[in-house]
Amino acid sequence: MRLLTCVALAVALVAGLAADAIAQQPAQKPPQRGIVNITGQLYRAQNDNHYTVFLVTPEGIIMSDPINRDFSRWLKAEFATRFKVPVRYVLYTHKDWDHASGGVVWADTAEFVGHRNMLTLLAPPAGNPPLTADAVKMDANRNGLVERAEASGGVAERFALFDYNGDQVVSGAELARGSVSDVYPPGTVYTDRHTVTLGGKRVTMTYLGTAHSEDSSVLHFPDERAVFSADILQIKRLPGGLAPNVGAWIDALTTINALDFEHALTGHALAGTKRDAADALRYLEDISRGVAAGIGAGRSLAEIQKSLTLDAYKGFERWDTSREGHIAAIYATLRGSRPGAATGTR
Ligand SMILES: [Zn+2]
Repeated sequence: MRLLTCVALAVALVAGLAADAIAQQPAQKPPQRGIVNITGQLYRAQNDNHYTVFLVTPEGIIMSDPINRDFSRWLKAEFATRFKVPVRYVLYTHKDWDHASGGVVWADTAEFVGHRNMLTLLAPPAGNPPLTADAVKMDANRNGLVERAEASGGVAERFALFDYNGDQVVSGAELARGSVSDVYPPGTVYTDRHTVTLGGKRVTMTYLGTAHSEDSSVLHFPDERAVFSADILQIKRLPGGLAPNVGAWIDALTTINALDFEHALTGHALAGTKRDAADALRYLEDISRGVAAGIGAGRSLAEIQKSLTLDAYKGFERWDTSREGHIAAIYATLRGSRPGAATGTR
């Protein structure tokens, strides 16, 4: 009995080590990390393809997204060596797990601020929505839930981040909420605009409406003439998608472009200038006008996708992969009941 227990433990231990090794394989290559000065005491920090920003003042640091715990721990050590002041504010761009996770690392010294919709989106959704189509494929025993052993892909990789109540199954509601269990909720929320001040510096958060997520904020650093936005503002890079509609995206980028800035800082890929931010808005206006003109001329979606090449944006990342999808989305919106939402006339 005793021997059997030992053997069982040894097997479990080896299996556990093997599972750990497998889980760690993708992370064997250390993440690309770094800190770049933008201007004055404003910096942009990188974790692979994700970026955040922070502003150092004599009384402490105001930072944006924590990205994840591991990155935040690294950043905290960098702050301790380089600046020797604590983080006083964490200002969230939005609730998505890949930007907003890991805030607990800063909870000892910081106040967390987000748009008020962030709290609603982090809460478990009411009711019990059905599994998504992808999750239905995972649900081998067809009990309407995804057990840990059934999970695959992102649900398997981030199972604990989906499993809000820790019951080892993921429900439709938990899937709808997203893998946000490691997002430290904001203790301070705002509705339209919110300014924090520290050490003689200001940062203003402005609500961006419903583009991409319903809780997005743009951060404005007026003294540094800089803005920071994750996922909505992109530099020489098309948006991944235009949910919920292109009108919401035009509204959000109009709000960003109305701010006084020179440095356009993003949560992914390149940073740029005011001119680049204006280009991001102009792309949405050009593609909306092009689709509207195509529909007006009686062209089919396929014909518009072929002819509306938007060559001015050919050098942009994702031009080849996203343009046709954007045309299809705008086409659907324009053919629907709310044409004003897609023409940018709002
Ligand atoms: Zn993102």
